[in-house]
Amino acid sequence: MRLCSVVVADFRNIRSVCIEPGDRFNLLYGLNGQGKTNLLEAVYLLGSPRSFRTSKLSELVRHGERQAQIVGKVTSGGIENKLRLVIEAAGRKVEIDDKAVYKASELHGKLNSVVFSPDDTGMVRMGPESRRRYLDRAVYMGDIGYLHCWHSYQRILKQRNHLLKNSDKTGLDVWTEKLAETGAEVIERRLRFVAILDCKLQKYYDTIAGGRETARLSYHPEGVQSTEREHIFAELMELFNRHQRSDERYGTTTAGPHRDDLAFELENRPLKAFGSQGQQKSFVLALKIAEMDNLQEIFGEAPLVLLDDMSSELDAERNNNLMDFLIMKEIQVFITTTERSPALLAAAPHCAVFHVEDGNLTFEGS
Ligand code: ATP
Ligand code: MG
Repeated sequence: MRLCSVVVADFRNIRSVCIEPGDRFNLLYGLNGQGKTNLLEAVYLLGSPRSFRTSKLSELVRHGERQAQIVGKVTSGGIENKLRLVIEAAGRKVEIDDKAVYKASELHGKLNSVVFSPDDTGMVRMGPESRRRYLDRAVYMGDIGYLHCWHSYQRILKQRNHLLKNSDKTGLDVWTEKLAETGAEVIERRLRFVAILDCKLQKYYDTIAGGRETARLSYHPEGVQSTEREHIFAELMELFNRHQRSDERYGTTTAGPHRDDLAFELENRPLKAFGSQGQQKSFVLALKIAEMDNLQEIFGEAPLVLLDDMSSELDAERNNNLMDFLIMKEIQVFITTTERSPALLAAAPHCAVFHVEDGNLTFEGS
């Protein structure tokens, strides 16, 4: 996939930017707070239902403006599509080739990107919620059915929680069963994704870290041992029934896939407690590369790779390993750094360089 041109207007601190990125490497450099991550976020949003930074649309619109706009020309499988996204506080509108689309599924696969940002490394140390958010985002990218069942699950969960707060609990059984039904689908799809990623993770961890530690990714949904939907459903019913008393006491569903966690392990120990910072960064980066590889297998084309604040994330050796890997692959890459790094420019062939200042981008050559 290639992003051939992108126009961004009134998006965060970007008033108006129009660029033609290079086919391979693109370096966006500039001081802190100038708009580098904002530009990556705009590119990411063009192909995804959600930002990797926020779920609040109002934050994305430039202060004092009513709407933000992102337009991109994308080639994929020899076909060019024009994607247009209009964001307002109240909602987002998407057009493909000047025709409005109303279902998120129509945008699916039109522009895939994988981001690696400092926030991602943070997810190792943070609570389960951030890992769950990552998991949901990652599963959706390659699995068009996931978004639908995830939304259904959230809707049913809300209804059930509403009922749990009521003194009249008529109909609770029905909602519990519905929750177990969609919950089983959510879990089945997550398990399938995690199994695929876990198989790829080790190879890429070795590539990045150059070591021989065992890296594992696993997902153990609470109360569930099976991997097939029917059996997961039965196990979830049991889990919900077991928790019903405490659910009623707290007025909320206290267990289920909305509470699950994703486990990261290095040398069979939790990465959070025993991994060094460098190991944690390598792990998350390996995970992202595995994700990229998976998307390439599914769509037959590599996604865009967005590396935010790269210099601060990895040391020189790991950086070199990553660059060597990216150079070998036919991928369009966007890298942000605070300096116009000579080492990076020497390593990245035909890198297009853009200077970012106060929400403006200036092309400096390639
Ligand atoms: P760093 O190197 O520190 O990561 P950066 O270049 O990646 O910096 P961004 O995160 O892209 O910086 O941009 C941050 C700037 O955008 C901040 O100055 C912030 O105040 C501004 N900003 C964020 N949202 C909006 C908005 N809705 N309207 C106007 N400005 C915004
Ligand atoms: Mg940034």
